[in-house]
Amino acid sequence: MAEAKQENRQGLHEVQERIAAAAHIAGRGLDAAKLIAVSKTRSAEDIRPLLLDGQRIFGENRVQEAADKWPALTSEFPDAQLHLIGQLQSNKAKDAVALFDFIHSVDRRSLIKALGKAMKEAKRKPPCFLQVNIGAEAQKGGCDIADIPKLLKAADEQGVPIIGLMCLPPAEVEPAPYFALLNELAQREGLSELSMGMSADFETAVKLGATYIRVGTALFGPRS
Ligand SMILES: *Cc1c(COP(=O)(O)O)cnc(C)c1O
Repeated sequence: MAEAKQENRQGLHEVQERIAAAAHIAGRGLDAAKLIAVSKTRSAEDIRPLLLDGQRIFGENRVQEAADKWPALTSEFPDAQLHLIGQLQSNKAKDAVALFDFIHSVDRRSLIKALGKAMKEAKRKPPCFLQVNIGAEAQKGGCDIADIPKLLKAADEQGVPIIGLMCLPPAEVEPAPYFALLNELAQREGLSELSMGMSADFETAVKLGATYIRVGTALFGPRS
């Protein structure tokens, strides 16, 4: 286990250096892109070394897994920040609002309604991203590009704060055009935050304006 911890640490430093290098090339500030350490499927023992090394922003894709794993870690590290990056069912909106500090996967009117209600009841408004199906893929979550304006309007009406756009570009093709498009769409709507870039492409995302990158395997190694 000592070895695994060492590996996580090296992974963190290496990823931080690569983010800094990409930001530098793009003429962006060192803090322009925040690193979300995607800890889905990882145990508390895998996660703790990163917390000890100062990493504070983490991403999970399932409400239940995060609810099982994180309360113990956040009692130890109260300033840890938890981001929901996976698809969210409306019936889990209440749990998600209670547990997460940011929600990246808002993509439809029914979910916006459920989140609005949950936020009102909990008197807690985690900032959210509208997830966009940027490659118009049948199997992917995220809203159609054409639906962005009306979903932003719905979020506004329901009191759900949307701070930016999020995407997962199509696999196995050059992601840069999709990142550039997401950036353009966000600018068009006056949204300042962009959640894009994963282990395979985060440097490209940083160069194209990502403000949050979501990195799992480059930090923790392959998921089993
Ligand atoms: C798992 C996941 C990531 C991280 O993927 P890696 O390739 O392991 O970096 C990023 N975003 C979302 C939405 C994910 O589900």
